[in-house]
Amino acid sequence: MSDNFFHTDNRPFIIAGPCSVESREQLTQITALLQATQQVDMIRCGVWKPRTRPGGFEGLGEPALEWIAALRAQYPGLRFCCEVARPEHVELCLRHGIDAVWIGARTSGNPFSVGELAQALHGCDIGVLVKNPIAADINLWQGAIERIMQADVAHVAAIHRGFYLYHDGCPYRNKPLWEAAIELQRRLPGLPIFCDPSHMGGHRRYLQELMATASDLGCNGYMIEVHPHPETALTDGDQQVDVAGLVALLASLEAHQHADSVEMRLNTLRQQIDAIDERLIQAMGERMEISRKIAHLKMTDHLEAYQPQRWNELLRQRLSTAQSIGLDPHFVRKLYEAIHEESIRTQEEVMGNAGVH
Ligand code: PEP
Ligand code: MN
Repeated sequence: MSDNFFHTDNRPFIIAGPCSVESREQLTQITALLQATQQVDMIRCGVWKPRTRPGGFEGLGEPALEWIAALRAQYPGLRFCCEVARPEHVELCLRHGIDAVWIGARTSGNPFSVGELAQALHGCDIGVLVKNPIAADINLWQGAIERIMQADVAHVAAIHRGFYLYHDGCPYRNKPLWEAAIELQRRLPGLPIFCDPSHMGGHRRYLQELMATASDLGCNGYMIEVHPHPETALTDGDQQVDVAGLVALLASLEAHQHADSVEMRLNTLRQQIDAIDERLIQAMGERMEISRKIAHLKMTDHLEAYQPQRWNELLRQRLSTAQSIGLDPHFVRKLYEAIHEESIRTQEEVMGNAGVH
């Protein structure tokens, strides 16, 4: 299944480029800058942009493919990839000699669309990258990849770009759920898996830590959004870096990979702990906010803040979850006693304050 199409010796395969092609000048400029780094294997550039809500910039379409074709001729060592969502997109990409296409997260979750794309791509000698669907359904991701593989596409790879979960308390735009990429690797051994830290993080400040984790988990390469002037980008401005930013990220990735000093490893792990603690505190705040709402409802029904039956059931459920993931039940009990005590104290405070007025 694996070949050398998405492979570079001695370092991860790097796909970099703007979220969207915005003009011929922007594409020409970013291509020249990325080429000059000599660290980029493939340029990414969105030509048709799937926007979550109407009204935004939807890409420049076919004219942008002509500019890409001209740049390919100018830089023979460089390859280009674009997102495709419909068979017409595939036909146009093939006609313009685009080297690889990717199926975006809003398309890969739709088996009808993937089926149509697979048909259009049948027997193609180009690369096809399949992003994970927005929904955290690994079967859907695997299914999309299988549909493309069954169409005898020569070079297939997956892109892990994180999953959208409603109010997950995660600081990132999309939750990585690293275990999903690990499981995909287990199910489809040999399939190259790339990490897209840009769409995962949603902000350039998170790229470094996400790339470090992906690297520790053995990812084969990265797809990173790079714009000549991210602050003016028409799409995904916050998460794009400029070329200097990309070079710094790649240097830090290399340092991470070669860091055998305990201190550097500790720092990476501590960054992860810090991010988790932020989420824990955030989640506690949200939990106490809900406790306050519960206090108001209990008051209307003249209920006590402390409800032993609910507490016993809650503890039972938490202990059972804890057990299923191998967490020490004594620890989880102590933790929940503290949380519950604070929740009751908060509710009594609300009730007391209401009584005073
Ligand atoms: C993109 O790569 O610009 C894009 C739209 O990504 P995703 O499908 O992962 O949201
Ligand atoms: Mn984007």
